[in-house]
Amino acid sequence: MSEKTIAAISTPPAAGGIGIIRISGGDAVRVADAVFRSVSGRKIDEMRPWTCALGHIADGDETIDECIATLFRAPHSYTGEDVVELSCHGGTYVTRRVLRAVLANGAEPAGPGEFTKRAYLNGRIDLSKAEAVMNIISARGEAALRGAVSALGGAVGRKIDEITASLVNASAAIAVWTDDPDEDVPAAHEDNLERVLRIAADGLAVLIRDYDNGRAVNEGVDTVICGSPNVGKSTLMNLLSGYDRSIVADMPGTTRDVVEDTVLVGDVLLRLADTAGIREDAGEIEALGVSRTVQRMDGASLLIAVFDGSQPLTGEDVELLKKCEGRRAIAVINKSDRGTVIDTGRIRHYVPETVVMSAANGEGGRELADAVARVTGAADFAPDALALCSERQRGCCTDALDSVNEALSALASGVTLDAVNICIDSATDRLLELTGKRTRDAVADEVFARFCVGK
Ligand code: GDP
Repeated sequence: MSEKTIAAISTPPAAGGIGIIRISGGDAVRVADAVFRSVSGRKIDEMRPWTCALGHIADGDETIDECIATLFRAPHSYTGEDVVELSCHGGTYVTRRVLRAVLANGAEPAGPGEFTKRAYLNGRIDLSKAEAVMNIISARGEAALRGAVSALGGAVGRKIDEITASLVNASAAIAVWTDDPDEDVPAAHEDNLERVLRIAADGLAVLIRDYDNGRAVNEGVDTVICGSPNVGKSTLMNLLSGYDRSIVADMPGTTRDVVEDTVLVGDVLLRLADTAGIREDAGEIEALGVSRTVQRMDGASLLIAVFDGSQPLTGEDVELLKKCEGRRAIAVINKSDRGTVIDTGRIRHYVPETVVMSAANGEGGRELADAVARVTGAADFAPDALALCSERQRGCCTDALDSVNEALSALASGVTLDAVNICIDSATDRLLELTGKRTRDAVADEVFARFCVGK
């Protein structure tokens, strides 16, 4: 047995109905039998696979908790190895106590994502599915979850495999033809090669586009709420966060520092910063916040510029509008409950996406969510579309696309097919790296390092 047997608490460290200690490896059943006493007296080793038994966990003579043991036999388990899951009561102490007994009997603590890594190493899942598991765990909304579940179904992996196979075939045809240029190899005819490469390029471009549309849904968007003092930035932030985070006050300039929060607006995850207002005559303390505001605005992916719609547009407002022009921005024309006198046409001139709303009573909140979806591209995101799961996968696809495009230009410029083949091979390499079929250990390690212990 080459691999050590590993164990970890797979449920979150909190009080709950059930806590699961998962054990995986060639020695999993022996380790579990050392701590589990079934009511029937039968050992886990004697149980039929994929069944469970009631009993209790004992550490020597001491009974720790009641427990249900579930047995999965290799290779039909999550990891592909023998797995025993001990479901005891969910409490931070009791689960740790059970884990300690399991470790005392020969299992070793699992590292982050080690169960899923074993599933990958044992050929149960490819890297694209492993990352989908990660996205399911971290999904913060319905659309993100649906996208990740679709990826877990293996659709992305299959699409990448299909593109890879077409490139490998093209490359093989070129190799055959290069070996014997007198032989007629139809697959190596330039028009056939061009067709295959174009289909591959289109397929990759769609995957990248869909990922970019879904990025707002899956990863969140760095957002800055900005505007003059007292227009209602903190109130808006509190509305979005659902609780009082910033100080709301009638005195201009109370929000001096940057408050951060992550909120789900419709289907889009916004990483929000509510900042000090931009004021030319700001006092010293406020000025500190103001300079950070300007910095943050430069780096943000989305600007939510807030205006007091019940007042005429001010010079400061116009300055802010100019900063937002041409950026991904939404103008919130706030305090609609007091009536709207502000020059909305002028605002739209700089920021076409405007929402008239009342942060105080929530009116217009739905319209804001729709605007956020439109501006961030999330409105174009189809959760059931084939979706890449991570920046890593996107990077592999864009590199592969670049190489395929290079191959197409090489073909068009009439260089030797050998040169074309070099480009095709480098595209193939990147795609095999994406699914993990040919991946350096360091890449796989990085993927699993993002996981939590117990998954
Ligand atoms: P900030 O300085 O931009 O963060 O503004 P605040 O959120 O602190 O709000 C300033 C004042 O405007 C507070 O008294 C809020 O209660 C009030 N306010 C904010 N939003 C609205 C709104 O939609 N309607 C009305 N009537 N008052 C609002």
